Amino acid sequence: MKKIGILGQSIQHSISPILHEAAFNALSIEHSYTVWDVDQSSLKPFIDEVKEKSVDGFNITIPHKESIMEYIDELDLEAQSIGAINTVMNKDGILTGYNTDLYGIRKTFELLEDDITGKNVTLLGSGGAAKSICYYLNSQNIASLSIINRSEQRAQNLIQNILSDYPVSVHVLDRDASKIINNSDIIINATPYGMAGSSVENTLPPIDLQLSEKHLVFDLVYNPVMTPLLQLAKIAKCKYIGGLDMLVYQAAKAFEIWNDVYPDIEIMLNAGRNALENESSY
Ligand code: NAP
Repeated sequence: MKKIGILGQSIQHSISPILHEAAFNALSIEHSYTVWDVDQSSLKPFIDEVKEKSVDGFNITIPHKESIMEYIDELDLEAQSIGAINTVMNKDGILTGYNTDLYGIRKTFELLEDDITGKNVTLLGSGGAAKSICYYLNSQNIASLSIINRSEQRAQNLIQNILSDYPVSVHVLDRDASKIINNSDIIINATPYGMAGSSVENTLPPIDLQLSEKHLVFDLVYNPVMTPLLQLAKIAKCKYIGGLDMLVYQAAKAFEIWNDVYPDIEIMLNAGRNALENESSY
């Protein structure tokens, strides 16, 4: 029996269990799925438990994607370069860390079917998800990258990892940042702005967003499916995409790492959509 699960904190609303259950059931793979709600101080005992109970693998979500790395035996090369992991595989007591968020991001840009060559990109946020976005953008010939974050220091730390030929600038999230966002071609939100249940659910002050048809918007937030940012994008007739596809593709890649079989994406997507629809009708 496959023993897997997810590690995080305050993750009672995570839909990852639903995505993986759907994929396991479709393939009739016997499994157990555990949600480990663990705080920072309990990461080491958690790792001991994983090894003791021969757990096959687990996903990692907020806030442990970076802090768990010190307890992992080996890192996939991309995960090491990004500096954050969201998937661990346990093979005979040796834990290997991967970053499948990157795969989710690649697939999302493929779905957008938009050539981002020569585009000016604005990234909101500088946390773990922003790290993977920057790693992806490193491989693209964009014109420029503007990183806007509440804490300037965290944004400065993020750009240390960016190895690119294009200009990168860092800005604090204040009213002046509005102009940078509005003048860019691609806007990526990697903050919890708009996320159901988040303290920043409905406002990301003090930005004055003026979207138009020329913008392309990628909101990493997946709950709700139509975030406040995506609603603005829809009204402005921009091309846009939310975070559900990224979530499903990163989950599918993790599933493949654990089980050596790529799951049915449509089944996982439908399970995710249904779960989010049911949640919003509470
Ligand atoms: P994180 O590491 O905690 O980073 C959060 C980022 O949001 C930081 O840049 C933080 O700024 C900023 N932020 C938080 N609260 C804010 C506020 N009140 N006002 C302004 N900025 C604020 O989280 P993460 O892992 O990068 O995740 C970020 C978002 O992406 C989350 O909403 C998550 O759900 C989403 N996500 C989606 C997927 C997917 O598959 N769709 C995958 C990963 C993440 P400071 O640096 O100033 O604290």
